[in-house]
Amino acid sequence: MRSLQPFTFGLLFSLTSLNVYAQKNVGWEAMVDLASQFSNRVGGTEEEAKAAQWLVKQYQALGYQAQVDEFQFQLGEKTLTTRNLEIEITGQSDDVLIIGAHYDAVPSREGSSGFTDNASGAATLLGIAHNLVGKQPYYTVRLVSFGAEEMGLHGSIHYVNAKAASLTKVIGMINLDTVIGGDNLYIHSAHTVPYACDRYNGIDFNSSKTLRDALLADAANIKTIKYGLHPKTVDYPEGETGEWSDHAPFACQGIPTAYIEATNFTLHGKDGYDGYSQTAESKFWTCYDKTKLGACDRKDEKKWGQIWHTQYDSQAQMIGELKEKITTQFDANVELLSNYVLKKSL
Ligand SMILES: [Zn+2]
Repeated sequence: MRSLQPFTFGLLFSLTSLNVYAQKNVGWEAMVDLASQFSNRVGGTEEEAKAAQWLVKQYQALGYQAQVDEFQFQLGEKTLTTRNLEIEITGQSDDVLIIGAHYDAVPSREGSSGFTDNASGAATLLGIAHNLVGKQPYYTVRLVSFGAEEMGLHGSIHYVNAKAASLTKVIGMINLDTVIGGDNLYIHSAHTVPYACDRYNGIDFNSSKTLRDALLADAANIKTIKYGLHPKTVDYPEGETGEWSDHAPFACQGIPTAYIEATNFTLHGKDGYDGYSQTAESKFWTCYDKTKLGACDRKDEKKWGQIWHTQYDSQAQMIGELKEKITTQFDANVELLSNYVLKKSL
């Protein structure tokens, strides 16, 4: 018995964890694979194209046919090619809810693989797709993976132009950009001051907080994590964000938007309390002072708790001692959004 017990326990444990993986963590596995296999998936490159093909296969494995919309964009003198992917899941209602995330990344300088920015968002979409297999949501759900966000929101700008005719049915757009790793999960709405909408062929601007607040109300049911609004900053009122990600072109088409982001607005970062310092975890600071909620010495600090767009944005840096935190965040986002689309809330 002494020798059998550990064996039996081990077998049961591994079967259980495999089962949990199959049930819950399709998205997590995809996040690790996307970041590690396509770490340099810069917009308009061959590697970004391969990452897109790979994502199409992941959706296929779940029984979905992704629509691929290939298009060109300008980078200075150069014409580059990228693509958006879209899955549509027909709901009880014709009202369409878009959940979008870019899958490209910044160049992989010194080991960055765009793990949180934004394999985390792209893979959350796969987690949602997995959870919706065999279910009919209330809303007709479009899961959209945008290309070339980091080079100027090209995927989302193209999307609102190419799909202009069908946007009248879209009642909201939820953007996922960098949704793990930061200390807190925030849900933002579009800034009340209009973005420069002419850049997006804007016809109207929507800064409604309705979608954000409906998501926050649902998030109260998530037991593992608390979602919240970021505090007022020098540049933005509480809970409102700027136009640096894929929600902006949608807000400029009159569509209510919400944006989930993992960061920490309470940290005294390089340029103040602006959310660019994502975490107080000491490995992301040269020296972190708990009492100051910031650098021990602002003159000597090199890292500033920043993960995105740095060499620290990789599975190698973030899995390990942060695994429990980021797994919890990842699962919470998938659960929140999978449940959100099932019932009418707007
Ligand atoms: Zn991003």
